[in-house]
Amino acid sequence: MKGKDEQTIAYGTDARSLSLPEWEAYLAKAGLPRYRAGQIYGWLHKHGAESYEEMTNLPASLRERLAGDLPIAPVTEAARQVSALDGTQKFLFEMGDGNAVESVFMKYHHGNSVCISSQAGCRMGCRFCASTIGGLDRNLTPGEMLGQIYQIRRLTGEEISNVVVMGTGEPFDNYDNLMRFLHLLTDPKGFGLSARSVTVSTCGLVPRIYQFAEEGIPCTLAISLHASDDETRRRMMPIAEKYSIAEILAACRTYFEKTGRRVTFEYSLAAGVNDSPEAAKALAALVKGLNCHINLIPINPVRGREFAPSARPSCEAFKLLLEKQAIHVTIRRELGRDIDGACGQLRHRQKLSAHETGEE
Ligand code: SAH
Repeated sequence: MKGKDEQTIAYGTDARSLSLPEWEAYLAKAGLPRYRAGQIYGWLHKHGAESYEEMTNLPASLRERLAGDLPIAPVTEAARQVSALDGTQKFLFEMGDGNAVESVFMKYHHGNSVCISSQAGCRMGCRFCASTIGGLDRNLTPGEMLGQIYQIRRLTGEEISNVVVMGTGEPFDNYDNLMRFLHLLTDPKGFGLSARSVTVSTCGLVPRIYQFAEEGIPCTLAISLHASDDETRRRMMPIAEKYSIAEILAACRTYFEKTGRRVTFEYSLAAGVNDSPEAAKALAALVKGLNCHINLIPINPVRGREFAPSARPSCEAFKLLLEKQAIHVTIRRELGRDIDGACGQLRHRQKLSAHETGEE
C-alpha cells in the first residue's frame, strides 16, 4: 500500500496544484533540502512563474528533474478582447490538452477583479447561459484555476485584489479541486489573497452549500437564484428540479450563521419571465430577515438561447420595490459590453469554428 505522502503527491502532477507540505514531502523523498520547497512555492504562487527555467536560484539539475516529475500545466493566452469602453479584458486561455476557458479582468474603483472559470464547459444546463451549450468537457485542476489569475496578473501587469469564480462551470460540481484552489489562493505563503476578497457563485447545489459552510473559508457565497418561485426557476434552470428555493434559502441561512458572511443573490432579469412587480415582492418576502445582497443583471442575450433582457425601466422598478423593503440591491454595472459580455461566448465560438474546420 502506498504511504500517505505518496498518495497526496500522486494527486496530480500539476505543480501549481501542490501545497507547500506536499512540496516538502516530495523533496524529502528525493533527498533534497527542504528549503527548496519554499523557493519553488514562492516562484509558482508569489511570482506566477510559468516555467522552471525562471527559477534562477535553483540548480539546473533540479529544474530539469522538476520539469520531468511535476510539470507546470500550461494556461496560455489564445485570444484577448479589450473593451474600448472601460478597459475590461477578456482572455481565452488554452490548456495542455487543447481545451480552452475564458477569464475576465475588470477594473473597479475598489480594485481589480478577475473572473475565472472552474470547468471547461458545464453540465448544469441553465437555459439562458452560453457556457453550458456544449455540456461539460472536464473539470479544471486547482493549478489551472490559479493559472488564469497568475497569467492575467502577468499579462496586464496589474495587481489583483478580488477573484470571482463566476466564469464557465459550476464550481460546486468540481468541489474538491475548488477547495484546494481556495486554500492555495489564500495561503499567506503563496498568492495570499484574503478569503474575503473571493466570491464563489453556484447555481444552488444545496448539499455543497452546507459542506462549504463547514470548510472555514470565509468567502462570499453568491447564489444564482434568478426567480422567486420554483415554477419560474424550473423554466430557467434544470437544477431547480432537484432543489427548491426554500431548500436553497435554508442552506444560505446556515452559511451565514457559520461564516458570518453576507450571501449575494444573483438575479438575471428576463423580459416577461421573472421581472414583474409581483416577482419583486415575492423575492423581497423570500429573503426577509436574511443578511444578503441582491445583484440584478439584465439577461445577456445569447444566440440560440431563449430569454430576452428586461427593459431598463422594468429593472429600475424591480430594484425600487426591493429597496422599499430595505433590501441591499444593485443593478450590476455592465462591463465590457462591447466585447461579448456573456461568459462562455468566446469559448463557444472558438469551439464552433474549430468544429467547422474539422479541427476539434
Ligand atoms: N455556475 C455558477 C457560476 C457561473 S455563471 C452559477 O450558476 O452561479 C455566473 C452568473 O452569470 C450566474 O449567476 C449565471 O446564472 C449568470 N449568467 C449566465 N449566463 C447569463 C446570461 N446570458 N445573462 C445573464 N446572466 C447570466
